[in-house]
Amino acid sequence: MLPQEIIRRKREGEVLTDAEIAFFVKGITDNSISEGQVAALAMAVFFNGMTMDERADLTRNMRDSGTVLDWKALGLDGPVVDKHSTGGVGDKVSLMLGPIVGACGAFVPMISGRGLGHTGGTLDKFDSIPGYRTTPSLDEFAKVTREVGCAIIGQTADLAPADKRFYGIRDVTATVESIPLITASILSKKLAAGLDSLVMDVKFGSGAFMNEYERARELAESITEVATRNGVPTVALLTDMEQVLGDTVGNALEMQEAIDFLTGKHQEQRVYDVTMALAAEMLTVSGVAADVSDGLRMATEALENGKAAETFGKMVSSLGGPTDFVENTNKYLEAAPMINTVTAAKTGRVLSMDARKVGLALVSLKGGRTRADQKIDFAVGFTDFVKVGQPVSAETPICLAHTRDEAQLEEATALLREAIVIGEGDVDPTGTEPAVR
Ligand code: URA
Repeated sequence: MLPQEIIRRKREGEVLTDAEIAFFVKGITDNSISEGQVAALAMAVFFNGMTMDERADLTRNMRDSGTVLDWKALGLDGPVVDKHSTGGVGDKVSLMLGPIVGACGAFVPMISGRGLGHTGGTLDKFDSIPGYRTTPSLDEFAKVTREVGCAIIGQTADLAPADKRFYGIRDVTATVESIPLITASILSKKLAAGLDSLVMDVKFGSGAFMNEYERARELAESITEVATRNGVPTVALLTDMEQVLGDTVGNALEMQEAIDFLTGKHQEQRVYDVTMALAAEMLTVSGVAADVSDGLRMATEALENGKAAETFGKMVSSLGGPTDFVENTNKYLEAAPMINTVTAAKTGRVLSMDARKVGLALVSLKGGRTRADQKIDFAVGFTDFVKVGQPVSAETPICLAHTRDEAQLEEATALLREAIVIGEGDVDPTGTEPAVR
């Protein structure tokens, strides 16, 4: 088989066979297909798309390019389920969701990533806990998941190495925004993680990776279809990222919001709705609950009776963090030296919030990164955000800025005032859309 023949066929809009896709993926993995050829195929797919059969074949071959975890062999005798989000700003949902679902009897071995650009990463939030090991051995990962119900860590095994090279090439050739390629990229890693079932949180809006609702919906439909064809029942929720999710943005600050949520001290409404909707879907798709309303009942009970908070605490101590973290977060989470009010400086109503710009304001404080190798400051960020639709006067706080110095405060204030649009007029209603099955 010749790579250039496969590229030519896709360039002409033809449908590739499983054997051709398998050959190409093998070549991506072992470097026998050049970067130029990989880029050319990516561009051909970008313009001509892929059928669901081709997407399923690409995903399966990419999944099999490295280790595929087998949780039964690692001692997890029960349903293994995970959630994957396409990424947002202030999205701390995984921090509560893993423990809630784990407390209800499913196993949640959650492999999460770091933030890059305007979106935050779950792993960075866990790095704000002193001692917490985000890269345990595979055996330790399995042991903690088995004994506690959930473990949230970074990637340990060599999962889907074909994606690593393919994504790197797509990133520099303007071919990331292809729904078939995004589907295969996300799912190859998730299916290699050996799940029995999956729930996707596909975000849309200003802070999302896919801004437009219709495109996000197309991605959700593609992912659910391709995952299910590959033997992993999957449902997707489309959730709104038109404004920051919850009250906080910043790693230690979001960790604090998550603990306040789990312990019942404070549960912001949109975070509550998204978290509980995803928990109900996870419990249903994994077969722990009979249906979504049963799943919601179970999740609510685990949250209200303190089992979810207890599960979080056990996960932290089992992975090397403090044994009293949940009770004494103040002792462990680093705080920024300055907390200042950022005022609206205008009178009117909050018409919209560009969540992407808020994410970039965090990057300006060094609470996020622009290059994968950068270190970040866990303490900085923003709390107490205004909501879209809220009336404000010039003196009304739009949030509190947690910064290291005056210069940071000035820069962040300018970015936030640009991100939060205040004026007169109507506001679009937003919210969680029904599940795509
Ligand atoms: N995230 C991924 O993992 N892959 C993509 O292609 C896009 C987003």
